Amino acid sequence: MKIRTRYAPSPTGKMHVGNLRSALYEFLIAKHDGGDFMLRIEDTDQERFVEGATEIIYRTLEKTGLVHDEGPDKDGGYGPYVQSERMKTGIYMKYAKELIDKGEAYYCFCDKERLASLKTEVVEGKEITVYDKHCLHLSKEEIEANLAAGKPFVIRQNNPTEGTTTFHDELYGDITVENAELDDMILIKSDGYPTYNFANVVDDHTMNITHVVRGNEYLSSSPKYQRLYDAFGWESPVYVHLPLITDENHKKLAKRSGHASFEDLLEQGFVTEAVVNYIALLGWSPEDNREIFSLEELIKEFDYHRISKSPAVFDIVKLRWMNGEYIKAMDFDKFYEMAEPYLKKVLTKDFDLKKIANMVKTRIEVFPDIESHIDFFQELPEYDVEMYTHKKMKTDSASSLQVLQDVLPLLEVQEDYSNDGLYQMLTKYVEEKGVKNGYVMWPVRTAVSGKQMTPAGATEIMEVLGKEETLKRIRKGIEKLQNA
Ligand code: GLU
Repeated sequence: MKIRTRYAPSPTGKMHVGNLRSALYEFLIAKHDGGDFMLRIEDTDQERFVEGATEIIYRTLEKTGLVHDEGPDKDGGYGPYVQSERMKTGIYMKYAKELIDKGEAYYCFCDKERLASLKTEVVEGKEITVYDKHCLHLSKEEIEANLAAGKPFVIRQNNPTEGTTTFHDELYGDITVENAELDDMILIKSDGYPTYNFANVVDDHTMNITHVVRGNEYLSSSPKYQRLYDAFGWESPVYVHLPLITDENHKKLAKRSGHASFEDLLEQGFVTEAVVNYIALLGWSPEDNREIFSLEELIKEFDYHRISKSPAVFDIVKLRWMNGEYIKAMDFDKFYEMAEPYLKKVLTKDFDLKKIANMVKTRIEVFPDIESHIDFFQELPEYDVEMYTHKKMKTDSASSLQVLQDVLPLLEVQEDYSNDGLYQMLTKYVEEKGVKNGYVMWPVRTAVSGKQMTPAGATEIMEVLGKEETLKRIRKGIEKLQNA
């Protein structure tokens, strides 16, 4: 049987790391096996619907390369692929009525006041009303009369109060719960929309989904879904519930972490491929300790049986490292295209930006890092003369002053301001003096950059700065050392 997975997002905002991981794993499970990956939009919760969220979903899937085989924009014969459109076909009501006929569901006419008077229970931090099955006991005539009078209603699942229900998850194994713990959840809401819980089951079945992959926050509802499958006499899909993703403090990754959504990460200068690679490892690992994977490689390697149950920590330091690896491996043109806005933000003078970009490519982890590496080109920073003193280079203020005074006239007459030309000229001076390279290069680089660490050597920096600016900075260095 061909594997069919679905990514079933609710369009409620940005695409969170957890959402993207579900999409990625569903995609990988299908593609690893030559199966189909489907997109279904679960928009039945009108209150949570956010304008533009569907577009974010499309954009993200496209950008990350998680190409769906079927979806609202790609008919595969199982449409409609948007739940609000499916609702219009009457599918959910039809199945809900089938359950009513089987005694597995019932109409509930209770109003807000009555529901408010019922006892509540805290389930996973949320207060829920435990419905007391009041309307299960209405007579046929009462129900008919209520319906005829147009009284608002919901349809509830009728869960037994005795016995147990068992379902199977590929990672967690068999899970058995007491039926008495299962509330009679709403299947059809008073606005006629199905709940997520009901639509999801009906759709997964009618759309022939073989594997359901989702966050383990759905684990606790799964017995109720299992009861629906059993009530219909349907075979349930293979379930894979994914471990929680936490932040560095082992708290559930939340918006306030600042890097919880795909869009946030891109804005922070991360590269799509690195993010996808990193997210693949949030709960899954290959047999060896390999960490860098392209999407193609992931498809080949991904075995869902190797997904872990323990929470995955979203480690921004690790992601930054991985992103740096992707930047290093990136071809220069693509790198430049992404780096340019960051370069232009800092450098407004007439510099050779490509040369500067080349200097930083191997030194940054995320694009905004560029700024602190290159700011000295724009403006010589204030620096301390102490910086001229370097033990290993055997330099101090006096030696540096001497070197700068010696090279200034050479630089004044020098015409070739290419890196090579400058390097030859300076090494000639080094040889004549019989000193080590660093003895000269250290003070020169300090003078032209004002920094201890630079993305390139003295002559490369001077090439970019040009003659006029170089001379200005060397003179400034001399002045500083003389006044010290
Ligand atoms: N609409 C649900 C969500 O966005 C889907 C969960 C599932 O995959 O079943 O969380």
